[in-house]
Amino acid sequence: MELSGKTAVITGSNSGIGLGIAWEMARAGADVVLNSFTDRDEDHALAEQIASETGVTARYIKADMSKGDDCRALVEQAGACDILINNAGIQHVAPIDEFPADKWDAIIAINLNSAFHTTAAALPKMRAAGWGRVVNIASAHGLTASPYKAAYVAAKHGIVGMTKTVALETAQEPITCNAICPGYVLTPLVEAQIPDTMEKYNMGREEVIKKVMLERQPSKEFATVEQLGGTAVFLCSAAAAQITGTTISVDGGWTAL
Ligand code: NAD
Repeated sequence: MELSGKTAVITGSNSGIGLGIAWEMARAGADVVLNSFTDRDEDHALAEQIASETGVTARYIKADMSKGDDCRALVEQAGACDILINNAGIQHVAPIDEFPADKWDAIIAINLNSAFHTTAAALPKMRAAGWGRVVNIASAHGLTASPYKAAYVAAKHGIVGMTKTVALETAQEPITCNAICPGYVLTPLVEAQIPDTMEKYNMGREEVIKKVMLERQPSKEFATVEQLGGTAVFLCSAAAAQITGTTISVDGGWTAL
């Protein structure tokens, strides 16, 4: 299998897109390190399930991606880190003049700063191994904006910029750095936005999904975590060796509008 012998560290991977990417990495033969800030039996059980169903080695390491030291410790504890998927992320929706400062700080820390710390810790390991792939999970909001998401949009535009810089710094090495920009994917992060949006627009659940959330997604379908995992695996494949410093949108046409 294409990624046999590689180790993939996926931040924020006990649910949603990160977990979907972990499954696809494991199905492609990579050993995987799952992560979140909790340390529950079910977190470790996810790693055990991936290992038993795919035959790869899978571990769960607790580390809080809002803390720089924890980000670097995750990469250290992982041992090998051939593939780094910066995925951990949170959201908060409010007009900028009402945006709580602690939420701003948390979003910038988890969605942007964590990728700085993990990438800084991982690059020396990739250089020593003679191969490396950094895949940043940005967003359609890394390329375009929406109202009430100032911190998220700022963090995601920031990570797209950092992606380009890391790509240039590693351009003459067997290391690539790219960003995937998903549109709406139905995960716990999106699910959590539905009740507030229903209240704000005085709409039912299905109406919110089709008319508000997928309003800007021309396909009118959510992207799936399997599709995002497949895109991440592609960016780690031999075919993608000359793809670096770019964004790949998985957004049903959102950013083509
Ligand atoms: P999710 O809530 O299902 O997953 C977020 C993950 O991050 C979870 O595993 C959570 O435990 C982890 N996490 C949160 N805070 C953390 C912390 N302090 N330390 C470590 N881990 C932490 O959400 P998701 O939709 O799967 O989002 C994953 C990524 O994809 C995020 O970066 C998000 O911005 C991005 N994204 C999601 C969508 C979407 O529609 N779902 C669209 C575009 C981009």
